[in-house]
Amino acid sequence: MKREWMIDACSGKCIDVTEEQRITVVDLEGGQVVDFFAVSAKDTSEFLSTGVTIDCNESLRLHVGDLVYSNLYRPMFQILSDDVGEHDLLHPCCRKEMYDFFYQNGNGHPNCLDNINRALNERRTIVHPLNLFMHTKINGDGSITVARPLSKPGDTIVLKARMNLRLGVAACSVSESDCNGGKCTPVKIIVED
Ligand SMILES: [Zn+2]
Repeated sequence: MKREWMIDACSGKCIDVTEEQRITVVDLEGGQVVDFFAVSAKDTSEFLSTGVTIDCNESLRLHVGDLVYSNLYRPMFQILSDDVGEHDLLHPCCRKEMYDFFYQNGNGHPNCLDNINRALNERRTIVHPLNLFMHTKINGDGSITVARPLSKPGDTIVLKARMNLRLGVAACSVSESDCNGGKCTPVKIIVED
């Protein structure tokens, strides 16, 4: 079975997947970051953890074959293929306070924290998702620079679910910086058996 979801610019969706299903994330127009978060279908206190993923993989980067882990150090996903090879594991979801901090425009600004909480019907106080296609340069002195994504129109990353999961996925709302190349665009998710 194959199911598809369009996620409009600056919005989010809830998608249920079962163990072994393949999830393809498509950057339709290129240069668009996808905030990709998940909770266990059985117990939402088990959730995707970028910190644990960095710990287990001993890397700040994701590679084909790598696992993505939950806060309980259990595999949630495996990376099956990746057209881009640049994703961010460091930044939390954008949120009202982030827009206020950098741009003084948080009121009424769409943001990934609200979009993912709404999609999951939750009220998490912070979410650290996989920021797919986000291009964070890690400099030698430890400083970081957010650059334009390297993703081209139609580029994908494919993940296999390693447990039954509920995904909260958002097309990131930042148009103020190079994060999304200065423009917010829609993305597509395909789930296949
Ligand atoms: Zn965002």
